[in-house]
Amino acid sequence: MTGTAPAPFTADVHRARMTRAAGTAAEAGLAGLLVAPGPDLVWLTGYAPPAETERLTLLVLAPGRDPVLVVPALEAPDAARAAGADALTLRDWTDGTDPYAITAELLDPRGTYGVSDNTWALHLLALQKALPDLSCVALTEALPMLRAVKDPAEVELLAAAAAAADAAFEEIRTMRFSGRREREVGADLAELLRRFGHSRVDFTIVGSGPNGANPHHETGDRVIEPGDMVVLDFGGLKDGYGSDTSRTVHVGEPTEEERRVHDVVRAAQQAGFEAVRPGAACQDVDRAARAVITEAGYGEYFIHRTGHGIGVTTHEPPYMIEGEEQPLVPGMCFSVEPGIYLPGRFGVRIEDIVTVTEDGGRRLNDTTRDMVLVD
Ligand code: ZN
Ligand code: ZN
Ligand code: ZN
Repeated sequence: MTGTAPAPFTADVHRARMTRAAGTAAEAGLAGLLVAPGPDLVWLTGYAPPAETERLTLLVLAPGRDPVLVVPALEAPDAARAAGADALTLRDWTDGTDPYAITAELLDPRGTYGVSDNTWALHLLALQKALPDLSCVALTEALPMLRAVKDPAEVELLAAAAAAADAAFEEIRTMRFSGRREREVGADLAELLRRFGHSRVDFTIVGSGPNGANPHHETGDRVIEPGDMVVLDFGGLKDGYGSDTSRTVHVGEPTEEERRVHDVVRAAQQAGFEAVRPGAACQDVDRAARAVITEAGYGEYFIHRTGHGIGVTTHEPPYMIEGEEQPLVPGMCFSVEPGIYLPGRFGVRIEDIVTVTEDGGRRLNDTTRDMVLVD
């Protein structure tokens, strides 16, 4: 979690989130939630320990009870300064005592708990040893929509992160691509994201020429050439909330085929965006974007889901994917990012973050979706 500045929310906001989370857990038949350091803990409490360690830090949420944060004594002063500290009880433990025994006393020994996805196995196994009848399920499995609906302040933080990513794109499109390595352009993108306020850069994909046909290409040593399509996909965290945008640029004049493929992806992205409205299913967004690509004859080259949620992380539920019937709700924020990937040749992806409004969708990314020609 290094470099993840907690977003500035009040103790009341954190109290409300914890109360709602415990209530949602109860509705799902859980005895409570166990949350280790990571995005769920930041969102619930505002507490982002400087490092995840082998010493147990664990938030225990149970309906009708005050939240308790089990925390190493040496980190308790930091925890007490977290935005949500006033909304919870700190239960500190010192080296030489057994934090799992302390935690076990807070739990229903036969209960089923939702456990944050990134909880270390070390901690969970020790807890299960202390309470052999305890049942555990992954938090994202049990409550996938826990963080999915953003409040207006969160939407504005996501909009600000998107605006910063857009500012980075407006700069990078003026820089030289031809003759430089992908990793040099990637380093420029990372620097620009930081310059425009990001505290953490999660990824800077620069997929030139045939590398663009691999959606998660590792930005590498390939030298970008005239005639290359270049997929740019970059993002990170600004003030605790994520950005993630893709644009595909071309070095010099594109061919007719390159223009056509880019036009298809742009139309698919538009169709996906237009499918966003309250009550539509997540899979409707995927279907709308995919239909455009399939009708144009490129269906087999669109090889990933259309989108993913974003919030205090850059990838989270809800997922815009076939089979996901979850209805869209105002405040949900996610990417719409169709692509076409022609193996050995080039790829095109266009990605915006979109939020669901009362009557449709609002794009948080705002740079042109026309193909940008670079030098
Ligand atoms: Zn070309
Ligand atoms: Zn992306
Ligand atoms: Zn994305």
